[in-house]
Amino acid sequence: MASASNVDAGKPNSSGSVEEWHQDEAVLVTIGLDVLTNGGFVNLDDFDGIELDLDFQSSAGRTFLKNHYNSNDPIHPIFRKFNWPDISDADYQLIGPSLRLASRILDQPCITPFFKGLILKQKRWVKITPKPYHKQEMFYFTQSPCNEMDMLEVWNWFAEIGVAQCQEWRFRDVDPDTFACTGKTGGAGPRPRTKGSFTDISSRYLQVLRRDILASSLPGAEHNDDESARLRTYFHLAVTLLHELCHAMRFSCFPSVKTYRSKTQMSNDIPEEPFYRDQRLAELGFAFESVLFGGDIRPLTCDVAAPFGFVVDDWPGVAEPQRQPGRATELGYTQRGGPTKWKVRWNTEYMVPMDFIKQFFTR
Ligand SMILES: [Zn+2]
Repeated sequence: MASASNVDAGKPNSSGSVEEWHQDEAVLVTIGLDVLTNGGFVNLDDFDGIELDLDFQSSAGRTFLKNHYNSNDPIHPIFRKFNWPDISDADYQLIGPSLRLASRILDQPCITPFFKGLILKQKRWVKITPKPYHKQEMFYFTQSPCNEMDMLEVWNWFAEIGVAQCQEWRFRDVDPDTFACTGKTGGAGPRPRTKGSFTDISSRYLQVLRRDILASSLPGAEHNDDESARLRTYFHLAVTLLHELCHAMRFSCFPSVKTYRSKTQMSNDIPEEPFYRDQRLAELGFAFESVLFGGDIRPLTCDVAAPFGFVVDDWPGVAEPQRQPGRATELGYTQRGGPTKWKVRWNTEYMVPMDFIKQFFTR
């Protein structure tokens, strides 16, 4: 995902003729939609509707919220309505399944080592020559095993941000090449010298969930089961919320860049994102997706309506930062050399069975 001076953006949508739309998707071009449909990657035959009481095996984070924040709401404080300043009651109800899924994932003990590394800044310096972005120091973090106290600290971190309303969510007509973008607000973050953040999410999610846009009306998707596509849209909205929450962590975890060695006129008060482990690109959202799914998960053709199923890509694979004019290095996020330097010549893409998506919304 690209990032502007204060923004980290989501992934591109596409439009146009069937040929134009499909030509960049190797899976669609080489395998074809018929094979994907017959293989159970597009339409569900036996979907009876969404189960709202998502009952994951462990709900230790939920227990923490009940005990420490007196909360029985199935939606995590960070996603609750008071953090959506201009959403209607109807739309908030409509996106409930996505909010519940994102909340359940945030409750899981398995995600705490990632955030422990990020929040507790178990950092090691990365040498990049020349130094990118205003001579900021760059560093990386790793996952660390969590004991019970660490888990409580991670869960408390997110609860604090939610209750203190440090992160706003808004549906907007964002750049059509993105799913969402996150930036800093003028408000205070949860720690000294940190900032609050906002995320603008593509209104197209709402249009699909309201059935204003039908996947089957998109080029080449005439045989699409619209309810299966809506289920994918619910899933993808949850992933996008978590992806962007990781970018928001950049503002809530790290103090203003003025504490770094900022000297050029290009500088602003935005801390750069750290690298996760030895990843070639510093992109927290995809780093987290790679922890959850073994790679970056996205709708084929990158349309919010997800008409052709999901694919998981190696991350970072052959990805390159998007150009952002105005930045010191004109790159959206920092990389330690391009794919060629790392001798990466192709991505492996894995189609995601619809049964995998369905399991998140059914008992
Ligand atoms: Zn991102």
